[in-house]
Amino acid sequence: MNGLMMQQQLLISSLLTHAERHHGEQEIVSRRVEGDVHRYHFRDMAERSRRVANALGALGVQHGERVATLAWNGYRHMELYYGVSGSGAVLHTLNPRLHPDQVVWIADHAEDQVLCFDLTFLPLVEAVAGRVKTIKHFVALCGREHFPATSKIPGLLCYEDLLAQASPDYAWPSFDENTAATLCYTSGTTGNPKGALYSHRSTLLHTLAGAAPDALNCGARDVILPVVPMFHVNAWGIPYIACMVGAKLVFPGPHLDGASLHGLMESEKVSMSAGVPTVWQGLLGFMEAQGLRFSSMNRTVIGGSACPPAMMKTFEEKYKVHVLHAWGMTEMSPLGTVCALKPVHDALPFEGKLAVQAKQGRAVYGVDMKVVGEDGQELPRDGKASGELLVRGPWIISQYFKGEGGNPLRDGWFPTGDVATIDAEGFMQITDRSKDVIKSGGEWIGSIDLENIAMAHPAVAMAACIAAKHPKWDERPLLVVVKKPGQEVSREDLLAFYEGKIAKWWTPDDVVFVDAIPLGATGKMQKIKLREQYADHLLK
Ligand code: ADP
Repeated sequence: MNGLMMQQQLLISSLLTHAERHHGEQEIVSRRVEGDVHRYHFRDMAERSRRVANALGALGVQHGERVATLAWNGYRHMELYYGVSGSGAVLHTLNPRLHPDQVVWIADHAEDQVLCFDLTFLPLVEAVAGRVKTIKHFVALCGREHFPATSKIPGLLCYEDLLAQASPDYAWPSFDENTAATLCYTSGTTGNPKGALYSHRSTLLHTLAGAAPDALNCGARDVILPVVPMFHVNAWGIPYIACMVGAKLVFPGPHLDGASLHGLMESEKVSMSAGVPTVWQGLLGFMEAQGLRFSSMNRTVIGGSACPPAMMKTFEEKYKVHVLHAWGMTEMSPLGTVCALKPVHDALPFEGKLAVQAKQGRAVYGVDMKVVGEDGQELPRDGKASGELLVRGPWIISQYFKGEGGNPLRDGWFPTGDVATIDAEGFMQITDRSKDVIKSGGEWIGSIDLENIAMAHPAVAMAACIAAKHPKWDERPLLVVVKKPGQEVSREDLLAFYEGKIAKWWTPDDVVFVDAIPLGATGKMQKIKLREQYADHLLK
């Protein structure tokens, strides 16, 4: 016997119509590429998204065709999020930090029809425009007053002109909730990038779960500033969650330095933010130097790579900002776990709570996970047994776009490539990415632990621990360090800093001081590059 409830398709447009009807007066504030701060309301965003849908129709975009963006976090990008997917086309967020060759490769692979871009990326678009095979229309995300007087792009269109010409009346179509909504490519550190193709249904379920109290815990009282880019994994779902709950949104545009972020957080009374650790590094460094505090920020989500406990401690103790450590992947829409403490942790002292928060956290409802040994058998949930982390759930990929790379699943589970433990309370902790693992004399050494300890040293700004070849032990840990400006620390001091904190044989064999650690397109340390550079360091 079936239940007798209404059958409604779970569509992205429903988030927008909800926001317009119930939170129409809520604000969206954007620092623009043009330099000024723009503000309007959800009601305006909804109307302009309908114009986007009409404008795309006028350009001949068909259901299921890809419309690409090269854009910062801002209101026009938000309008495209809803206008493109809502009309049944697929929003393809391109990552502007990629090499132009990669942008061309990905746009061709996705068969993008239209490319909408912020003016910052005009040189990049000019470099790729003559090479991409399928893009018929290029749209500059600006008004007439900022439209490039000359450009190498034939037939370049002006976004504000398109919207002005389009009707504000549009009825969002209904279609199967399994229809593709957005497309995002993995950064492809090895091999070609692969596309994760999210559906309306997967996005809606991710939105519902992501807003929940023990996940990102968002509501209408929140003022959210997503630093995490809308050009990578949908800014962790925040553009959708904000519409669902009616939270005020504050978009930082291209200005991600400490001074700009802090200024916006204060002037707009931001309560919550989200980003990768390297971004917070910049903000905290600036605040430290200027002796600043937050007056409204009460929590921030940190993920994308492990949040060093020292950073967590600074946020919690000095700035009274609660850190929600989160873990996920492009292939997971991206939310997998969030580290929300349970009542059993209430009695723990501050340091004990921090130790739990350093873990990547508990699975949000909808994500099932387990760790398995080399034989594929599930390992005990004891917080000690570490093995490959496997996940499954309705917002986790079943295959890559166009079947690239074959079947990615193993017995219905997606192997994450992360090495982790899960404890009895369900808290998962990543010890490494399988390709970053250091195997010394047949035993694994967790590079994240070693990095976290180095990051707790007051003179260290950034630390990466990598495997270097060793004549006796096969591989040994090598620490690569960027010092804080004006700070000094010696190799010996740093190595001594490990004493008593880990098993002695885990201590890195050497320290290399560098000016900068290369960061990838999503702001993560590119350890592969360091490995290539320093592989033979211990053989010398
Ligand atoms: P890309 O693969 O393009 O760099 P993803 O966002 O898909 O970008 O990266 C996912 C990977 O990032 C995870 O498999 C994991 O290795 C790492 N990661 C994400 N969040 C965390 C975290 N909180 N702690 C440690 N590693 C993380």
